[in-house]
Amino acid sequence: MTFKELVKTVFLLEIFKGMALTLRTMFRRPVTIQYPTQKKPVMPGFRGLHALTRDPPQTGDARCVGCGLCAAICPSRCIHIYTADSEEHKKIVERYEIDVLRCLFCGLCVEACPYAAILLTEHYEYSGYTREEFYMTKEKLLKNYDLYMGAEKSMAYFSKFWHPLRGDFGTPKKQVVFKGRKEE
Ligand code: SF4
Ligand code: SF4
Repeated sequence: MTFKELVKTVFLLEIFKGMALTLRTMFRRPVTIQYPTQKKPVMPGFRGLHALTRDPPQTGDARCVGCGLCAAICPSRCIHIYTADSEEHKKIVERYEIDVLRCLFCGLCVEACPYAAILLTEHYEYSGYTREEFYMTKEKLLKNYDLYMGAEKSMAYFSKFWHPLRGDFGTPKKQVVFKGRKEE
């Protein structure tokens, strides 16, 4: 044992240093919060549970037109869309399903959708005992919209995080467009 270590041991210096640190921090505001009674607001753009947008916002059906772009871009292949033709030859989205347990919460489906029809809400407190509880059907996704998003919040969300460059769904100037393959 060196002389310095001996002095430290005899005079209990480490203990006093520890007690001084405890005293210094004792009267500071705690950084921990009492979850779940206290909660911090989520960050803007937080990617929580999915929802399908209603059109019109409060009363309408899903805005989704069943184009399938979200399913095509989804890296987890966890979006399943089933469409049918109505008698007026209009496309109907019969089923729109997301297997949330496979989702990466990357947000690509939101960015790919040309109609602002799908979004990620701020809701993250969900749990369940079966896989089925995390298999989101169209009805569940619309309910998520009513519960966790709603008209005003979704407008703010899309204005910040939805990326098509124009609101009229035309082709923006800078957009890369596929113009067919050059003849060899
Ligand atoms: S957030 Fe990503 S992984 Fe999840 S459904 Fe959308 S595209 Fe797929
Ligand atoms: S990209 Fe949008 S409109 Fe197309 S199927 Fe997905 S949610 Fe529906």
